[in-house]
Amino acid sequence: MNNTPKIQHVMEYPPADQPHGFALKMMELLVIPTFVLDCHGKVLIWNRACERLTGVEPWEVLGTADHWKGFYHEQRTTLADLVIQGRGGEPSRSSGPTARRVGPDASLRAENWCDMPRIGRRRYLAADASPIVDNEGKLMAVIETLRDVTDEKCAQVALEQLATRDGLTGLANRRCFDNTLHAEWQRALRQQQPLSLLMVDVDNFKQYNDAYGHLGGDECLQRIATAVASEMRTNDLVARYGGEEFAVILPNQALKGAAIVAERIRCRVEQLHLPNLGSARHVVTVSIGAATALAAPDNDPSQLVAAADSALYRAKHMGRNRISLPSADSDLAAAITEAVKRS
Ligand code: GH3
Ligand code: MG
Ligand code: MG
Repeated sequence: MNNTPKIQHVMEYPPADQPHGFALKMMELLVIPTFVLDCHGKVLIWNRACERLTGVEPWEVLGTADHWKGFYHEQRTTLADLVIQGRGGEPSRSSGPTARRVGPDASLRAENWCDMPRIGRRRYLAADASPIVDNEGKLMAVIETLRDVTDEKCAQVALEQLATRDGLTGLANRRCFDNTLHAEWQRALRQQQPLSLLMVDVDNFKQYNDAYGHLGGDECLQRIATAVASEMRTNDLVARYGGEEFAVILPNQALKGAAIVAERIRCRVEQLHLPNLGSARHVVTVSIGAATALAAPDNDPSQLVAAADSALYRAKHMGRNRISLPSADSDLAAAITEAVKRS
């Protein structure tokens, strides 16, 4: 016996008083975007709400496996396809949404950004796909329902931005710095890798504010933030630590590498040539303290912050516009400053 339901074209639905007619009409008019695939992945039903959501009309996809065209520019697996393939809960790279199982049957749930090529704007869709089985438990079809949750997703992203970003510079904020430092410390402990930290403080910034006003000062901080961030690798984190101070977390970086990054940052800020008559070179400069720790169970990241802080204090004390390392490594700082200057 062939269990595959017959393809139902919208205009060919049986009248509501005939067998299945009522159910099909209801599905057609349901306000929830819904489509149904047969067990071979061909579209059986593509309701009006699905048409409104995707801009794809039923006649374009019914009887085909082209339903992905409603969602993606390139052929990709939809959640309903994953149910047919008996897959779920496994990360998919190019193929489609990352799904998780819900309930005792093979139902899947996923959320992801979809291109929506026909309507021409990306939407964030939440999808549920469930198998429809016959009395023997054999797969007949899969039903997928969709919800457009773009507004909720954007609100969530904006909230995350607010919670983790500094409003003036767009860098990570202090809270994000604290969390990241803690996480990186744990990772360094597990992997027995060094963890380095730079504390960067703008020199004579009070005078800059006095000369150019608070708004001018704000603009200067934005320029410095961009300059510092431009020296970062993918896994580094630069944060606004407070006021005119920035902190840079350099995972898996030994002291020598950290000192090189610090010297590059110092040079880059100096080369912005932002005038500051209050500083020795008459341009805006920064002082940087660097420190490195090998994480151990009996120490904690606050000691790394304290070490970088006291190196910064020493840089200020030695005349500003310089990098400084923990006192035992002060010769290294001078050597690296020379080496970066020559390079
Ligand atoms: P030093 O070289 O010793 O670091 O001197 P400094 O003048 O930079 O340090 P001080 O701590 O005396 O002054 C820091 C100034 O930074 C004072 C404060 O008004 C200014 N500042 C802190 N946060 C902001 C900000 O968000 N915008 C502006 N425009 N100024 C800020
Ligand atoms: Mg300061
Ligand atoms: Mg300062």
